[in-house]
Amino acid sequence: MDKPKLKVKSQGVPDLSSVKRCYLPGAILESDCSHCGKSAIVDFGDDYIMYPQQNSTHTLTFYCEACEDEWELSYAVTFSAKLVPSA
Ligand SMILES: [Zn+2]
Repeated sequence: MDKPKLKVKSQGVPDLSSVKRCYLPGAILESDCSHCGKSAIVDFGDDYIMYPQQNSTHTLTFYCEACEDEWELSYAVTFSAKLVPSA
């Protein structure tokens, strides 16, 4: 007998309007300070994405603990699922 197949029932944009805070433990973004070269991180296990929406653009503020510089970078939120081989 064949393995059960996965069927995609909808390819629309997921409705995340009820999600206020989205934590992503293990997702860490890093950027190097343009003044001293030290790296700074944003850890989404500690810092959450406020009201995530598919393809929405957000601004991160990085802080360099070495020289106390701050800078902002933008990122986009995307959510996806893909079929992988079963064990
Ligand atoms: Zn710095």
